[in-house]
Amino acid sequence: MEETTKALLPLRVFFFPLMAPGHMIPLIDIAKLFAARGISSTVVVTPGNEPFARPVINRANATLFATFTPIHLLLLPFPSSVLHHLPDGKENLSTFVFSHFTDFFKAVFALEQPFNDLLRTHLPDCLISDSMFPWTADAAINLGIPRLVFHGPGIFPLCVHDSLKLHDNFRDGNPFVIRDIPDTIEMRRHEVPMIFDALPLLKMVSESEEKSHGVITNSFYELEPAYAEHYRRKPGRRAWYVGPVSLCNEASEEKEERGRLKPHPEFAAWFAWLNSKPAGSVVYVCFGSLCELTSDQVKELALGLEASGHFFVWVVRGETAQPPEGFEERVRNVGVGLVIRGWAPQLVILGHVAVGGFVTHCGWNSTLEAITAGVPMVTWPLSSEQFVNEKFLTKVVRIGVGVRREGMDPTAVVGAEEVAMAVRRVMDGGDEASGRRRRVGEYAKLARAAMIKGGSSYMDLSRLIDELVTCRATAGGNAVG
Ligand code: UDP
Repeated sequence: MEETTKALLPLRVFFFPLMAPGHMIPLIDIAKLFAARGISSTVVVTPGNEPFARPVINRANATLFATFTPIHLLLLPFPSSVLHHLPDGKENLSTFVFSHFTDFFKAVFALEQPFNDLLRTHLPDCLISDSMFPWTADAAINLGIPRLVFHGPGIFPLCVHDSLKLHDNFRDGNPFVIRDIPDTIEMRRHEVPMIFDALPLLKMVSESEEKSHGVITNSFYELEPAYAEHYRRKPGRRAWYVGPVSLCNEASEEKEERGRLKPHPEFAAWFAWLNSKPAGSVVYVCFGSLCELTSDQVKELALGLEASGHFFVWVVRGETAQPPEGFEERVRNVGVGLVIRGWAPQLVILGHVAVGGFVTHCGWNSTLEAITAGVPMVTWPLSSEQFVNEKFLTKVVRIGVGVRREGMDPTAVVGAEEVAMAVRRVMDGGDEASGRRRRVGEYAKLARAAMIKGGSSYMDLSRLIDELVTCRATAGGNAVG
């Protein structure tokens, strides 16, 4: 055990993720990273999200790793009463349709008082909470403990956010250059993240970050060094890069269980199907945990995948938009494609040797997970910061191919031919495709190196833990041991 780790027991850190898979999954991974360093880690979720968090935490707690300190789970009732017209039990953003997202966030803001009471009762040494809980900054200040902000996205998107906030140069609707970032990148109005149209929320999140101790980010220095430096340059900002956090899931069971609610009876069959395919021959298609395509789009995607001439695994989310009648049976019977309904074990699939490409909506977790697996991407952003992440993949690290033509209306249906063409550009040979594959392979190696002992993310986490220990010593420790 390292000296620093010994000296800190029992530092107590609380983790409070937004109730959405893309936020809960990485923040629980971060809790696991802290627990692996001997830190007493507590994850706070609402009861409706317990089935999602409990198995992962139980699995982690069963680890035999010597320095691992068991993770606690604390339940905070979800204020469903503010959601007059919605049934109980919906406590995760992934269970809301897009038009009800505002209701979800109303409930999230009603968590302020109960969460503050919970914090006062338990008096942790540090709080790591989601950027979407801006009120937690004051809660931490009132208790005299440091609060770290967890933003879902990586460093490049955070730099773009800074630029958009400072220059506000996109509102006239014309294409514009993102100012004051290391690369020259053009953007369009529709690519600006939604939060820039919710000014009061944007203001709250920004002010809350300024009051916080710093920012913890799921990325690694070597992936975006110019942005890692640039982001830290802002006066008064402290930032720690501790990813890719998905790499804390080493055992195959951890990868399989991550984020899912219950085991899927067909898991073994999917795996056998992948095992039957040559290395690098399958394209994996998934649009994350929230996005749903329209019926017309699903149809074109189905036809495009079939026309691409490549094997595919396609995760179809939701019940409304479905592939054409008979498609699923046809592609399965001829061994060309596999349709997964509901939740797919993404880390297992991306890490499978048969998978050679990923059609992705460019959520940050999916982006980083593909990079970590060394898989090049077809980029297909649909909303929020996904368009910014696409810029990163296609313009900065150059490991992705956009499914849309530059400037194409994002609400227009992408035709089957465009889908097939983008898939072929990533999966077929040729200099461009080989260049992308080589680059992403290099990043995958750097990602692993960053997370092992002595690597950049490992060391950043060590520095952060040391600093939290110092903060506690300066504050005189807390009342509860
Ligand atoms: N995910 C998964 N299986 C699915 C869909 C999503 O394991 O069928 C995981 C994925 O690995 C990632 C997260 O859910 O960790 C999605 O986060 P991301 O930021 O990519 O997108 P979001 O869902 O927030 O739009």
